[in-house]
Amino acid sequence: MRLCADVGGSFIDIAAFDGDARILWRRKTATPVGDWAAFVAAFADAVQAVPCDSVSIATAGLVDPTSGKVTSANIPCIDGRALARDLSAALAQPVRVVNDADAFVLAEAAMGVGQGHERVFGIILGTGVGGGLVERGRIVSGAGGIGGEWGHGQVIHASPVAANAMPVFPCGCGRHGCLDTIGSARGLERLHRFLHGVDADSIAITRGAEAGNAKAYATVAWFCDLIGGSIAMLLHAVSATIVPVGGGLANATGLIAALDARVRANLLTPVATPVVVPGRLGDEAGLIGAFVAGK
Ligand SMILES: [Zn+2]
Repeated sequence: MRLCADVGGSFIDIAAFDGDARILWRRKTATPVGDWAAFVAAFADAVQAVPCDSVSIATAGLVDPTSGKVTSANIPCIDGRALARDLSAALAQPVRVVNDADAFVLAEAAMGVGQGHERVFGIILGTGVGGGLVERGRIVSGAGGIGGEWGHGQVIHASPVAANAMPVFPCGCGRHGCLDTIGSARGLERLHRFLHGVDADSIAITRGAEAGNAKAYATVAWFCDLIGGSIAMLLHAVSATIVPVGGGLANATGLIAALDARVRANLLTPVATPVVVPGRLGDEAGLIGAFVAGK
């Protein structure tokens, strides 16, 4: 059996898989974000409960493919640590670690909506914007593990004639106008405030748009306009043919359908079937991605 885990800022979801990718045992515990000894203990307890021959982890944060070091602002006890090496030494087991967005895409490519596609470009529309590129069943990690991350780099600039016409928000990466600032659930809320001067959460906006609320509909339409072109451009550049969507906005079926229409309208080669689609594996995608990565 193989022990697989999906490590997030709130929970560690650990499961034991058999060789046919079936989950035989599963446990969810709070992530001890600031306590390395407790972090190791969460895995040591699982290894004791379920005898296994290797451990595979999908984690929030970048994973440098060369040094193995993790960069994770939300989980300080693994930030800057060569997680696979250190956990392997503590557990006396081989340990593999991948980024959780990459794991999501790997899972959807292998067992979800990306099956049969040579290149899968998956996107996470959650608190922020994330993504990953999988080519022929392999994660394209890129330098520093940044492969598939499409949320940063300035895409929105203030108009030279009407400075407040475009929402040039500061980004957590230190730049301004990154796609991350308008492309996520928080971004949708920022756009709504910018357009209409009122606060609403992303669920209220997406449901309002589906119910015919004109303001919410305008926000969703602008959101799809702003990020749809970027997604189409990426699909041209990397020759990916399917975009599984994860994160909270993946549940907003109306928004995803509108985004898909916007992306397909921008594709140079017409496609008759949906390209941007919600992932199929739900909250097991990270675990399954860890399983596939550890093969
Ligand atoms: Zn940024």
